[in-house]
Amino acid sequence: MLIKDPPAAITPRLWMLGTNEYPLFLFKGEREGTIFEGGVGAMGPLVLEQLRAMGIGRGFVKQVVITHAHPDHVMAVPILREAFPGVKVLASEAAARTLAAAKAIAFFRQVDDTLTESLARAGRITEAHRPAPLAQDRIAVDRLLREGDTVSVDEGALFRVLETPGHSECSLSFHEPGAGVLVISDATGYYLPDPDFWWPNYFTGYEAYMNSIRRLAALGAGVLCLSHNAAIAGAPAVRAYFDGALAATQQYHERIVSEAGAGRSAREIAGQLGSEVYARTQLLPLDFFQKNCGLLVKQSFRYAGLEPDEHGNVQRGGA
Ligand SMILES: [Zn+2]
Repeated sequence: MLIKDPPAAITPRLWMLGTNEYPLFLFKGEREGTIFEGGVGAMGPLVLEQLRAMGIGRGFVKQVVITHAHPDHVMAVPILREAFPGVKVLASEAAARTLAAAKAIAFFRQVDDTLTESLARAGRITEAHRPAPLAQDRIAVDRLLREGDTVSVDEGALFRVLETPGHSECSLSFHEPGAGVLVISDATGYYLPDPDFWWPNYFTGYEAYMNSIRRLAALGAGVLCLSHNAAIAGAPAVRAYFDGALAATQQYHERIVSEAGAGRSAREIAGQLGSEVYARTQLLPLDFFQKNCGLLVKQSFRYAGLEPDEHGNVQRGGA
């Protein structure tokens, strides 16, 4: 079953907050809660508004867990930190390093401004949700997480930390075996439930990305929290989702390799793929998607052992 349209209860203890485009997930213990995901900036004021409506006080959220350091997954964090007294922010070491770099944050701000405008234009947020400019040129992290660590919520819940690279080098996933909850962020790419469409996102490695998905699928979770567009409830639906993600990614990769074999340059392939994603979501400009598709083409070439020349062309009949 697909869960959408936050605020929405996925289980009595797990809530989807924010918007469909940029959900954050609140896991509630008896006395305290943890938020997974850091959203775009506009999710800060929106989530605070949602919590207020749910009767949840600002002292309840003790941890905000960053899944990875991409601009649409961190920009609400400073707003939440300011709102929740004593809250701790958790992330991988690689993510923390990115978030400490003023240059990265300057770029994140630009992307965030664009996304705020897109969400406002689409009527997904109101003027009240426009985030104030960041006071600092870094996003601080209080606790570094790595493979095998645990994140506890009260005494009752213990999330295991899994390093799941491929989408980014700093990507983490979180599994709570007792509740059957799995938070995977962008590990399976950008999924649009209505057309049942995946934009695979193996930006830092095809093989690592596929291995991460297989590893996550093998956990047999009953609830899957994606960081865009939906959460999925029910073990058979979660299994089917992972199967779909693997098949779509493999198909995407094979298409890139076969188009290169047919004489199309990396730039042409990326241009076409980027246009196709842009046709489905206009949250960011066309060239953003084309640039990111350029990374996918590069990773597919690398995995297939194809060596493009300086024009991005692959010799027919090459490796
Ligand atoms: Zn991402």
